[in-house]
Amino acid sequence: MNLRGAPDVKCDGIPQEPECAATLPAGGEEAAWDRWEHFAGDALGRYKEERNNPDRDGCSMLSPYLRFGVLHPRQLLAELRPDPNHDHYRSELGWREFYADVLHHQPRTTWENLQLKMNAMPVDTDARAKQRFAAWCEGKTGYPIVDAGMRQMLATGWMHNRVRMIVASFLVKDLHLPWQWGAKFFMQHLVDGDIASNNHGWQWTAGTGTDAAPYFRIFNPAMQAEKFDPNGTYVRTWLPELASVPDKFVHVPSESPSGVPSSYVAPIVDHGEERDEALRRYKLVTGK
Ligand SMILES: Cc1cc2nc3c(=O)[nH]c(=O)nc-3n(C[C@H](O)[C@H](O)[C@H](O)COP(=O)(O)OP(=O)(O)OC[C@H]3O[C@@H](n4cnc5c(N)ncnc54)[C@H](O)[C@@H]3O)c2cc1C
Repeated sequence: MNLRGAPDVKCDGIPQEPECAATLPAGGEEAAWDRWEHFAGDALGRYKEERNNPDRDGCSMLSPYLRFGVLHPRQLLAELRPDPNHDHYRSELGWREFYADVLHHQPRTTWENLQLKMNAMPVDTDARAKQRFAAWCEGKTGYPIVDAGMRQMLATGWMHNRVRMIVASFLVKDLHLPWQWGAKFFMQHLVDGDIASNNHGWQWTAGTGTDAAPYFRIFNPAMQAEKFDPNGTYVRTWLPELASVPDKFVHVPSESPSGVPSSYVAPIVDHGEERDEALRRYKLVTGK
């Protein structure tokens, strides 16, 4: 039908709902405030201590609502009191604003290293690198905390902050892949995907950004997991293959006397060797 005065524009029709296999959080402002009430009534009082534990309900999970402007950060600031846990929550909201500001002033850093000296860092992009990337994307690296994080994101569109840091570190420092590959995959799957927080979160981990974690500080995935998911509750939630692995080996099933369960995968790389390789590459760039 041609409406009077409307330009004759070719149109393919209304697009179908995109396919989405993930179970996403409820949309809308009411759902956002319900989540806030749940968090503020309980976990906010322990936020400083428990925000790093993916096995607890210890953070607000409000990122999708902030991302889409369902809530404004000022509305949350108005709910906070002078208190160490509230102060910590306030500072996390500050990181979001900080990264938005950095990107506003330096838009080139969306996909380029903020620290130009890190452009000299050798990264792998060959066929083996692509295979390793595919294993990382599917949550099949053989490192349970990494795989659990990736499966959580594929299933729900969200991943715990501590685990985001661990999976990102693994991609950059254990697999030696460009951080941009991981950042792009995150943007395709996160329901809170935000180009500033995401790409600068990646640059922080990769040691290429603002106030970056020094490149030589390399996360050991098993030690991170033992510290922040001591009983393996989180990894078992997302990796049912590990249900019968004893607690002691749940983060290192390859060391279990009964070996890696046949439904799971052996580690695709050796963390110790790749750590040395990452440090060797860092030395090439900095001479240190
Ligand atoms: C590699 C990597 C990628 C990330 N990608 C995103 C992304 O795409 N979108 C996104 O919103 N956050 C991202 N983050 C930051 C952080 O992981 C999430 O904001 C947080 O996990 C969201 O969960 P939450 O709402 O329970 O956080 P809470 O701990 O409850 O924090 C409250 C709010 O503060 C903000 N916030 C907390 N930590 C950070 C942080 N490190 N950087 C920026 N803002 C923060 C978020 O808006 C968050 O909702 C990323 C972090 C890393 C390391």
